Amino acid sequence: MSAPPASISGARILLRRLREIMQAGGATQERLDKLVQMIAATMVADVCSIYLRRGRVNELFATEGLKREAVHATRLREGEGLVGIVSETGRPLNLADAQRHPRFSFRPETGEDPFNAFLGVPIVRSERVFGVLVVQNRASRVYGDEEVEALQLIAQVLAEMVAANAFGDLSELREVEIKPSKPERLSGRVFSEGIAIGRAVLHEPHTPLGRIVADDPEAEEKRLNEALAQVRARLTAMLEGDEFSITGVSRDVLETFRMLAHDPSWETRLKGGVRAGLSADAAVERVRGEHRARLASVKDSLLREQLHDLEDLDNRLLRALAGDERGAVLPEDAILIARNLGPAELLEYGVHRLSGLALEEGSPYGHAAIIARAAGVPMVGRLAGLLSRTEAGDAVILDGEQGEARLRPEPEVVRAYEQRLTLRSARAAEYARLRDQPAVTKDGVRITLLLNAGLSLDAHHLAEAGAEGIGLFRTEFQFMVSEKLPKLEQQIGLYRDVLAAAGDKPVTFRTLDLGGDKMAASVAIEREENPALGWRAVRIGLDRPALLRYQLRALVEATEGARLRVMFPLVATIAEFEAARNFVEREIAAAKAKKRQGPAAVEIGVMVETPALAFAVPGLKGRADFLSVGANDLMQYFFAADRGNPRVAERYDVLAPSALRLLKQIRDDARAADLDVSICGDAAGKPLEAMAFVALGYDRLSMPASGIGPVKLALAKLDVAATREWLDERLYDPAPSLRAALSAFLKERGAAP
Ligand code: PEP
Ligand code: MG
Repeated sequence: MSAPPASISGARILLRRLREIMQAGGATQERLDKLVQMIAATMVADVCSIYLRRGRVNELFATEGLKREAVHATRLREGEGLVGIVSETGRPLNLADAQRHPRFSFRPETGEDPFNAFLGVPIVRSERVFGVLVVQNRASRVYGDEEVEALQLIAQVLAEMVAANAFGDLSELREVEIKPSKPERLSGRVFSEGIAIGRAVLHEPHTPLGRIVADDPEAEEKRLNEALAQVRARLTAMLEGDEFSITGVSRDVLETFRMLAHDPSWETRLKGGVRAGLSADAAVERVRGEHRARLASVKDSLLREQLHDLEDLDNRLLRALAGDERGAVLPEDAILIARNLGPAELLEYGVHRLSGLALEEGSPYGHAAIIARAAGVPMVGRLAGLLSRTEAGDAVILDGEQGEARLRPEPEVVRAYEQRLTLRSARAAEYARLRDQPAVTKDGVRITLLLNAGLSLDAHHLAEAGAEGIGLFRTEFQFMVSEKLPKLEQQIGLYRDVLAAAGDKPVTFRTLDLGGDKMAASVAIEREENPALGWRAVRIGLDRPALLRYQLRALVEATEGARLRVMFPLVATIAEFEAARNFVEREIAAAKAKKRQGPAAVEIGVMVETPALAFAVPGLKGRADFLSVGANDLMQYFFAADRGNPRVAERYDVLAPSALRLLKQIRDDARAADLDVSICGDAAGKPLEAMAFVALGYDRLSMPASGIGPVKLALAKLDVAATREWLDERLYDPAPSLRAALSAFLKERGAAP
């Protein structure tokens, strides 16, 4: 190892001294006092102070250079003074002339008047600022980058040492919240229905306590190098895993990712930390903190994306260091805690291995939520403060009925939830009783309820849920879980498994719907400004037909001697549908040319997901065999509101008069053209929405397994004719939604869902 640069050797000395103080023992206050003395001496500062947060106040806990009597007496409210700014923003504040700052708050008991230069850095752990470390000097000067960095390094170590009680129990000294330990209740949104009681597993891991400072920097550098090599090798494997040559497709996404992983400045920053005496984990966490801080301030979308990628790489590296790059070691009752999660990441964990999923952000219309619903795994999102309030291993109750997370719940809350779980199983038993009965409305209209699935495991819910077939099988999930493009045999294998699980019930396969928020490592898709409006789904299939034809070949083979029902996503014109349909016919002809039997019956359908196709339904007469309304996408394009963006996704309602009118028109046009039509967006699985759709004339609904029982029960109370009449009168209403009015109408008639 080459000699470390000066700033690193300085930091190293600091870390060594810090460790000595920690190991020397003694009373907590005494050790804090020694610590500030040491930092002041090493950094040649006239003052060094530690403020820790108590509730909404930052209290001076130790100082060298200010008056001793100020300790535990000087308290700054949240946001008050310069210390307040640092604790509020979580960012360093470096001022040559502190007293001139408009927010400077003079406290006579501290005697700080002679000090001009001020440098404050936050003491942060697990995204929680719990104090501020300050140095001050008489001379008016701005602190250099190296000094800022050294102080940040100390603050990071200090945060971990305090959290690990290395100074003795600070919370005994004063009531400081170092780690959240009390029960808390966070409110969010239900993304996938259900209740889970389990333990927190952090998607963005933290350095294990006690593994911050390293005794042997060389050994740490070796660990870091090994982890780096592991992460890079995996990215290379992903890139090279593309055995199927999709010529002309840019491989930008993975290439950029790999390039970033080889970026020397990233590596230098990581190694700098290790050489300064941090453990490899702590060094990565420090760099991740920098990326996050920059993300918070950067507006440029390209740069933001790059910082997101870097943060993702930091997380991969942390998991590699913990010997668990792909989350291989999950407890049985794991509740995954993340800021946000893409569908591919969720599948990488193995959604069926999770008891629940809690997100600080996210959208209920994104594909991670769809996967969770398909798998019946409870998911709650938009839980503000989740990351900063949860420690790995915390007991968590995920309430996917109310949209809440209970952290470290009291025993009586756990008991109450256990009772709710019992109640849920009673309700499940009620649904199970209905399982073998057909769905019929109160006035005798027979409705077909189908299942949305995407993993072979989901197909097994079919009988359990009481669905009459699979109305939407999302084939892209198989591509998203695998690093390499699934081989023909693997694709055939999956389709055969699904058909076998379905028995004599029909299965509608939807061809690959990649792009948008659904990415697969094996299919390189260029990064686009507007992915939802970009090159996705059937557009990829038609432009690069090798992939589509390969998939259709697998479907034709898998349905040999049986019924092939296949449909295409995101079609905008009849010409696109015809081109896609042609590919199916060519594959069937090719099978026959090889003296294969081919499918016994073939139905080729199309998803109505674009307003353009919604208005072209009459022209599909005689061309398509069936239609399925993809209401998730159709509403996204109808309202021009990104389904993955929570800010806008919930702004509009599928029960808006305008949206219902569009759905009614599709239904009426389909009927006039003799076309079977179903709705397969997630809304079909919600009782109130399902009732509205049936009242509009839809008699085939495809939904997640969890929707079948509740929808069947609700439909049994529905008077279709009366509700249709009520709706028809309101389709030109100026209201943004008929939800409340429809609920009230149904309630009055004893048909509340
Ligand atoms: C839809 O858009 O409604 C749909 C069913 O397809 P996906 O959710 O997979 O885009
Ligand atoms: Mg869709």
